[in-house]
Parts: sequence; structure tokens; C-alpha cells
Amino acid sequence: MPHTATTRLAPSPTGALHLGNARTFLINWALARQRGWRIVLRIEDLDTPRVKSESIAQTIDILRWLGIDWDDGPLIQSEEPGPAHEAMSRLAHAGEAYPCALTRAQIEAAASAPQEGVHEPHFPIELRPALSPVRFDRPDTNWRFAAPSGAIEFHDEVYGTTRVDVAGTVGDFVIWTKRGQPSYQLAVVVDDARQGVTHVVRGSDLLESTARQILLYRALGLGPPPHSIHLPLVVGADGLRLAKRHGDTRLAQYRDRGADPQRIIGLIAAWSGVGDPLHPREITADTFMRAFDLRTMPRGNVTFREEDDRWALSDG
Ligand code: GLU
Repeated sequence: MPHTATTRLAPSPTGALHLGNARTFLINWALARQRGWRIVLRIEDLDTPRVKSESIAQTIDILRWLGIDWDDGPLIQSEEPGPAHEAMSRLAHAGEAYPCALTRAQIEAAASAPQEGVHEPHFPIELRPALSPVRFDRPDTNWRFAAPSGAIEFHDEVYGTTRVDVAGTVGDFVIWTKRGQPSYQLAVVVDDARQGVTHVVRGSDLLESTARQILLYRALGLGPPPHSIHLPLVVGADGLRLAKRHGDTRLAQYRDRGADPQRIIGLIAAWSGVGDPLHPREITADTFMRAFDLRTMPRGNVTFREEDDRWALSDG
């Protein structure tokens, strides 16, 4: 098979997509269409045990409503558990992963001091058992990847040279959860590799995760990890990542209240260096795609303002 540059849109059908997610997907889609990448739609439904097919359908409808399309999929992550299970077995056999039944409280008690801005507690190396090849025979336990010491360095098209010391920050991280499923880190690597993904575009909240994913690419012998493009986040007036406390910015809410998708795209465009940042204008997804330039996209986080919400909903 010829090696086609490929990206993926990877929504989690947890709640509904909000304006921050919409911006990431629209930019991912625009870059793919500008640069001729194949787009795979992958629904990441593993973290959400009770996902109903309705929420998957809703997620897909909303992407279409915005004018986003794709070439393959939807591939539903939970429908193909085999490859992640197989990858997990290989890491266990290689002595690079081990079962770990410690609770978060036990880990936090062993970790020296909580680190500012790190959401996951640091897993101190003292808690790691002696490594040896083992059978992956306890899928109802958490399994951790033994993170090698030293920093990982990679190039991100937006953030430039990025160095992350996985062992020194999160430490040995969970790759399989006691719910009998791969963690996000393992699932994303296995799926990106087998779906031929060469370009990953996502929010900068996942920039650090890239290092963990590179370690898994190496340990599994999966070839070069994808080219990395991380985007600044949309935040509320308090500087925190857009969430429920900033009001209802779900796309479904705008659609159901009669908003024109061209207004949403106009807002995203204004946030992304296309047009006047303070005075959005209605535009189509196609116009956005032609005008968007990753090189001139503002590098800082974008602040969602109340007037943005009013603008999205007004029809004048
Ligand atoms: N499913 C993740 C999300 O919706 C995206 C993960 C990724 O792009 O690697 O935030």
C-alpha cells in the first residue's frame, strides 16, 4: 500500500463537542485539505463505558453540520479490542510493563510533593517492581509501562523543539486499566500506527502526552511516530480551558437554537488569524480552509468572550 499522508479526527463522544473542540477539528480538517492528507474519523469511546450509539451519531452529525468531511470511518475504537490487547501482551512479554494494583492514594502518599500543573500524580520509581517478562494474564488490573529515564525530544510544528522527561514527571504510566481496556496512551498509539496516521493535530493539553506516545512507538517497534502539530487552547475569561463553568458552548446547543454554522466558523476563524480577531464575520468551512495559515495562527491561548456567544446566536 502506498504510504499516504494521513491524519485523524478523534472525537471522544463523551458530552458534546464544544467550541474549543470545534476549533481543533476545523483546523485539523483545513490542514488536511490544504496539504492533501487522507482523513480518518476515529471515535474514541474507550473512556466512556456507557457511550450510546446516539452520542456517537450526534458527534458525527455535528461535524457534518460544521462542514467537516473525512475519507474513512467512522472507526469506533471500542469495536476492535484485539490490536491493543496484542500490543499489551508484547510489552508484558518484553518485560517493559507490569501489573500494578496500587491506588491513587497509595501512589500520592509515596510521591514526594505534588507537582504544580501536573494532573497525574508522579509515580515514584521506588514503587516499580523488579522487571521481568510476564504474561499479560490479568486484564482486570492496571498495567504500567516502565518509563526509561531521560528526556524525550521531539519537534512540534507549532511549539517547536519540545523536551519532556516522562520518568521525571509522570513516571511509569498506566497503559491498561482495570476496566479491561487500554488506556488512552496505548489505544492512541496502537490505532494511529495501524491506521497509518502520519500527522496528529490536537490541543496543546496533549503536547506532553506525545512523549509518552513516542516511548510506546519505540517499545512496540512501530516505526516513526506521527508528525506533531499541537494547537493553543480556547480558554474562558479565567484563563482555564473552556468547560461547562464558562457557559454552554456545546455546538449542539448553538445548532438547536438556530445558529448558523457559518457564524461558528467565523468565530473560529477570528480566533485563528483569519480576519479581524475582534469582529468575526460569517464564512464557510471552505473559505476558512483556503484562508487559514498555520504559520500566522496566533500562538497564545484564545479567550472566549461573552460577546462571542452573543455573536454566534444573533442573526443580524
Ligand atoms: N479523543 C481525544 C479528545 O477528544 C483526542 C486524542 C488525540 O487527538 O490524541 O480530546
